[in-house]
Amino acid sequence: METPQSFFRAGELVAVLTAQPLDRLLDYKAPEGGVFLGAFVEVPLGPRKVIGVVWGKGQGGYDPAKIRPIYRAIDVPPMVEEMMSFLTRVGEYTLTPLSMMLRLATRAPGLTDPPHMRRVLGLGRGEPNRMTPAREKVFAVLEDHDGLRFTLSELSSMAGVTSSVVKGLVKQGVVQEFETPSDMPYPFLDAQMAGKTLTGEQQRVAQALRLKLRSREYCTLLLKGVTGSGKTEVYLEAVAECLAQGRQALVLLPEIALTVEFLDRVEKRFGARPAEWHSGVTMTERRRCWRMVGAGKAQLVVGARSALYLPFQQLGLVVVDEEHDNSYKQEEGVLYNARDMAVLRASICGASVILASATPSLESWANADAGKYQRFDLAQRFGAAELPEMQAIDLREDGLEQGRWISSTLAGEVQKRLERGEQSLLFLNRRGYAPLTICRACGHQVGCDHCDARMVEHRFQKRLVCHQCGETKPLPEACPSCEVEGKMAAVGPGVERMAEEAEARFPDARIAVLSSDMSMTARALKERINAIARGEADIIIGTQLVAKGHNFPLLTCVGVIDADLGLQGGDLRAAEKTFQLIRQVAGRAGRSDKKGVAYVQTHQPDHPVIKAILSGEEEAFWKAEAQQRRMAGVPPYGRMAGIVVSGPDLSVVFDVAGYMARNAAGLHAIGAEIFGPAPAPIARVRGRHRVRILVKAAKGVAIQGALARWRGNLKLPTNVRVSIDIDPQSFF
Ligand code: ADP
Ligand code: ZN
Repeated sequence: METPQSFFRAGELVAVLTAQPLDRLLDYKAPEGGVFLGAFVEVPLGPRKVIGVVWGKGQGGYDPAKIRPIYRAIDVPPMVEEMMSFLTRVGEYTLTPLSMMLRLATRAPGLTDPPHMRRVLGLGRGEPNRMTPAREKVFAVLEDHDGLRFTLSELSSMAGVTSSVVKGLVKQGVVQEFETPSDMPYPFLDAQMAGKTLTGEQQRVAQALRLKLRSREYCTLLLKGVTGSGKTEVYLEAVAECLAQGRQALVLLPEIALTVEFLDRVEKRFGARPAEWHSGVTMTERRRCWRMVGAGKAQLVVGARSALYLPFQQLGLVVVDEEHDNSYKQEEGVLYNARDMAVLRASICGASVILASATPSLESWANADAGKYQRFDLAQRFGAAELPEMQAIDLREDGLEQGRWISSTLAGEVQKRLERGEQSLLFLNRRGYAPLTICRACGHQVGCDHCDARMVEHRFQKRLVCHQCGETKPLPEACPSCEVEGKMAAVGPGVERMAEEAEARFPDARIAVLSSDMSMTARALKERINAIARGEADIIIGTQLVAKGHNFPLLTCVGVIDADLGLQGGDLRAAEKTFQLIRQVAGRAGRSDKKGVAYVQTHQPDHPVIKAILSGEEEAFWKAEAQQRRMAGVPPYGRMAGIVVSGPDLSVVFDVAGYMARNAAGLHAIGAEIFGPAPAPIARVRGRHRVRILVKAAKGVAIQGALARWRGNLKLPTNVRVSIDIDPQSFF
């Protein structure tokens, strides 16, 4: 085989991949001075200049006189070949054109700009007029990091003082301002610093992870530990090993609010804060992160799923924390699962993956069971903390009043906590006030004008909100259908309505609602969570936001308002998701020395999933669930793809989908089964009708090729779109 050429001399023909939707590479001439394979370049395209990457040798076949030269090479290190093959493989797996993959990999603003300047702070001259403990902390940080400079926020956070303390010192010139390119390297993370003293069990697992990293071979490790067992402490040991090797590490978290706490822990463990990559990060910081990762000068990145596409030079470790979390699946644009793509990326570059969770996905559980992943368990909570006891409250016996959702048993338990000065959490995975607004006169339900979804009342905003498209409208006085006034009624509970009920029942309690639709920055949300953790609320009412990794030391009582909620609906993962969510929520209780109890309100205490939740027999649950999926031939024991055909005209959409289902010989040839077309569970979103086809195949079958040909053969009417979701998570 020909070895790929890695440098092209001036004038040589090269193929360039751009982020333009062209579905092919474009030929250019290498510029003056030549270019490397993988180089980021600017090329002329029509009248514009666009960013591209030198992807290989030119294909030729065009009039050489008409081929234009690359405009210039951008001053960043070339894309490494591992990254090129990662993008290619993700594109092939998810049936995404390479141009779109490149867009994911270049989502940093101002890539072609020269460096911006920014202000940083370092030691100045002289003594402050007055020394205070806070000022001493600032000097201690500057002296500890001899000669290093920091931004205002870095310096004040590392010193643990407010920014006004630092500004006061700047005014006196004892801390000095310097101008520096804004793409500053990140402060050094010291992998040799000692971490917390680990328990025997933690130590054994940490040592095993370190050994795996030392082999420098690809492996995926499932770190299963009950909530509060110290998973984070343990995987930080693996991060330390990776950094000590001089390789880069990436930690993925499912939710931005969790990054704030994590950054603090990294700072305590390694002496400085790592790079951050998620939607809450400023443009300047995104640019800095992208550039520094590419220059090999960011040792550790903490981020959301898209951080996988950063230009790491020598990636040694990817941690996927709370690996079971749904938010790792990207549901718009490129449809990929960051957990699975992390494994792919690591396997290409010889890195390790750690999948951490208290309630692993069935996929990961099965991969460990089959020996593909190695599993490590942390069975004990750290310190005196014990796992909460689980108790069912049978709602069939505990007759609830109309319009009430807190049973008298649960209310009694909350009351006891109030008297003892402990916290209770009421969990209901429904945002807003009420899921349904109905006219008591004619039965009309208020729906969204653009979606096949009911509008949800949000009383704090005094509006009805569509959770599909975000459209809002005021609560109508009169029924939009029969025009009778004063008969519109809220039906069913959301967290806001739970808060109302709790206020009525416990008038003296301080009540806090935590829900993901609160428009807050990550930092503000984390501050609110911290305040609650310190005891600034007696009763917390929350959606699944509270299930994810936050610590509430005073919390000893968890009430699951409606355990049956997630079991309805046809999702193949309904049992798994319900199991994970309720176990995670219950895990919030009793995280310090006080014992916790979780009360699970249910109409079906004998349902196998509810029984498994209550008994805590996890392995039995996984085995039973695995058995069912194996019999049905569904993931992880079969392959699935969800095809959604959408467009403004329902009959056209149905015609296209019907045609596709009837003309699928290529799929039948590989043994795939086709279900549908049928209206998607949410049959209209933003004015587009949605019709869905499900394709199911045996596990070993590579369905992508057949799917691509199937779609490729279609001539779609304008305005009709076909999206293909490999390994669909949600079935909407
Ligand atoms: P998990 O990620 O499994 O939920 P964490 O790593 O967050 O657990 O640990 C739970 C709490 O216990 C944290 O506050 C953590 O700092 C503390 N902790 C865990 N292990 C230790 C240890 N060996 N020494 C001191 N504190 C620990
Ligand atoms: Zn809508």
